[in-house]
Amino acid sequence: MKYDCIIIGAGPAGVGAAIYLQRANRKICIIEKNVPGGKLNTISTIENYLGFESINGPDLALNLYKQMNKLNIELKNEEALSIEALPDKKIVKTNKGKYESDFVILATGRKIKKLHLKDEETLEGRGISYCAVCDGPLYKNKEVVVIGGGTSAVQEAIHLADFCKKVTIINKNNLFKVEHTILEKAEAKENINILYNAKIKEYKKEKDQLTHVVVTIDNKEKNIKVDGCFVFIGSEEQTKLLANLVTDEKGYILCDDRMQTSVDKIYACGDNIKKDVYQIVTAAAEGAVAALDILKRR
Ligand SMILES: Cc1cc2nc3c(=O)[nH]c(=O)nc-3n(C[C@H](O)[C@H](O)[C@H](O)COP(=O)(O)OP(=O)(O)OC[C@H]3O[C@@H](n4cnc5c(N)ncnc54)[C@H](O)[C@@H]3O)c2cc1C
Repeated sequence: MKYDCIIIGAGPAGVGAAIYLQRANRKICIIEKNVPGGKLNTISTIENYLGFESINGPDLALNLYKQMNKLNIELKNEEALSIEALPDKKIVKTNKGKYESDFVILATGRKIKKLHLKDEETLEGRGISYCAVCDGPLYKNKEVVVIGGGTSAVQEAIHLADFCKKVTIINKNNLFKVEHTILEKAEAKENINILYNAKIKEYKKEKDQLTHVVVTIDNKEKNIKVDGCFVFIGSEEQTKLLANLVTDEKGYILCDDRMQTSVDKIYACGDNIKKDVYQIVTAAAEGAVAALDILKRR
């Protein structure tokens, strides 16, 4: 049996695409290696998704799953391992089988790089965050640190400085990898303090809430009292499914404004593509754009 479209990943992007295709009566399936909802399952509180004043991530993930079930969207709990792009079809190989399809949508998200320090996982959502746009407002008038030495770290620090009392950027190098104008903006903010050659060594907690970060600067330890710690040290490549897919140097997939990648009939959407805004609303919207373009082509 051949599918019209196979979607890889059941996060907001993949489910967003699936809803449009299924409602247009296409033969589709979603391949998901974990649980439906993707990153939503890791978010404590979401306050910027329309229609929900405040909802916790796993509840929104469950809503997505219920919606998929109601529409009878086929879900395969398998891991996609590779895609073969032939002129007349795509073949998706998983850890359990091999499936043919006319179109494939890659909605595989991204893996955020972590510091792998003790207590990191316990403190995620309890002081540690990887998204200033998402969690920043929870730290209004509070003191936070930002870990990283690249463009995202500096941009997110500038964003946080608009409502946090104090933002300290901890850069393990003596320079930032960022455009000079962006760094100048950060340096001009009175409530941004920058620590160079500073390496984070330890998180300290009280009652499972982050209270301090311990940093080493020139072999001396500094204990910084914090309400929040935002980590921006990059993300890891997720897109090894297809060798000849064009990506940027970090592995983010390049696609056009219809979400079509460099390989015909393979689309990508959500956190795995190169773009400026990595949010639920953009992921879901890109899924819809990909699906509607596929519908136009058949
Ligand atoms: C801590 C945190 C807090 C956040 N808070 C917010 C917020 O408040 N508001 C907001 O708008 N955004 C928030 N975000 C961002 C938001 O979660 C993402 O932008 C969104 O989930 C991206 O959706 P996606 O479908 O592209 O990817 P994901 O949600 O990452 O889903 C990708 C799915 O693909 C699956 N997958 C990957 N590879 C394979 C494979 N080979 N085979 C099968 N399945 C595969 C994964 O298991 C996963 O389920 C937050 C992110 C984080 C990390």
